[in-house]
Amino acid sequence: MAAAFHQRIQEALLDERLQTALYAATGRLMDKRKSGVTAQQCPDYQELRAHAHLIKRHTMENLDYYLELLARKVEEHGGKVAWCRDAGEVQTFVGTLAKERGIRVAVKSKSMLSEEVALNEALERYGVEPVETDLGEFIIQLAGERPFHILAPAMHKTRQQVADLFQEKLGGKREEEIEKQTRIARTVLRRRFLEAGLGISGANFLIAESGAVVVVENEGNARLATSCPPVHVAVAGIEKVIPRAADLALFLPLLGRSATGQPLTSYTSFLSGPRRAGDLDGPEEFYLVLVDNGRSRILADREKRQTLYCIRCGACLNICPVFRKIGGHSYPGTYSGPIGAILTPQALGISHEPELPFASSLCGACAEVCPVKIDIPKILLELRSEVRKTETRERRWNFEKLGFGVWAWLMRRPRLFELVGTAMLELLPAAGPLLKPWTEWRDFPHPPPKTFRQLWRARKAGA
Ligand code: SF4
Repeated sequence: MAAAFHQRIQEALLDERLQTALYAATGRLMDKRKSGVTAQQCPDYQELRAHAHLIKRHTMENLDYYLELLARKVEEHGGKVAWCRDAGEVQTFVGTLAKERGIRVAVKSKSMLSEEVALNEALERYGVEPVETDLGEFIIQLAGERPFHILAPAMHKTRQQVADLFQEKLGGKREEEIEKQTRIARTVLRRRFLEAGLGISGANFLIAESGAVVVVENEGNARLATSCPPVHVAVAGIEKVIPRAADLALFLPLLGRSATGQPLTSYTSFLSGPRRAGDLDGPEEFYLVLVDNGRSRILADREKRQTLYCIRCGACLNICPVFRKIGGHSYPGTYSGPIGAILTPQALGISHEPELPFASSLCGACAEVCPVKIDIPKILLELRSEVRKTETRERRWNFEKLGFGVWAWLMRRPRLFELVGTAMLELLPAAGPLLKPWTEWRDFPHPPPKTFRQLWRARKAGA
């Protein structure tokens, strides 16, 4: 598994087109976020972050209460709630529901959770064609790939690549202009909305006090996916619940500004059960699927449960120097970047993905931009320590450990330390091949002309 991870990283680093697209796209998103959180644009940004962190903490500490309240409210509005422990239960629930209704086409608005539980593959096994309707998701579905970024799933594709893809899969004229490509996608998708028997959405927030599912988007496709088909299924992780609608006054601006620099995302929909008498549109049946899939395990750890505060804004990915080089497809699992590095090993178990907590420079930039103040570097360190504890004695005997052991031994012998230090200055230039794994992707600093001790002695003699 580690070998596959390293292989994907090598491939990403060698792909010049990917490197250019990735650096430019994350840079643009970072710039937008930066301009959205300035003191002029959002004077109380830091207070909002602190407050959002507290609300999330309070909700996670009382998650059982808020989930029960949410379920009661959804049912009061005529909706049904399904509790699913893992991916298999979600697949069975949604697949069986579609099969019983004789549904052949399901339109989906962007949902990372449905990726996490491999819902598309499951639907196909039940004879249902899943159609992604978010433009980025539509592109990667056509390309047969998985999302590259939690917010911008097709971030790695250039418009020229999209032009080739559309021409190959949809036919028609090759169009490189993004507006024209959007028009092509819209024409194809409008028809699919009308023929779909099932609409599947994710949820950005679940309001416990009212039972509303809140979906935030910029394209309007989620509104069509949740109101055109006769059946709507919202699939959401249990951590998406927040106590009150009033809390959105914090979370919506934090999400919009951190994700794309927008004060608010273009469309915010509140979905509360099936269509009622007198409603102009809406589904006849509404289901909320609440998914655990490892989240209870994360919740059980008092320190690391803050992982569940994440509102999936993507800011930590855009700023992460590791993500910006290796990209989303290098990471195993659905979630990439710093949040993926802490979420995936905890949800699946540390032995499944032991490499992930090490895919970080620990620079702390992720914690600085996180709108809900998740201390990602701290969790990474804790996970690293857990990985080390689970490793066998033999495996721990690696070069890093050996190197630090020798260094500690030398530090206790000052004269020898000095001798070795002086010799190293001479030997370092010749040690190039030995340092290749380290220097392949970064520059080795030029060694100073003299050791610290030589410089110190010279300085004292001159004083
Ligand atoms: S961890 Fe924080 S910065 Fe990263 S996606 Fe989640 S909310 Fe955004």
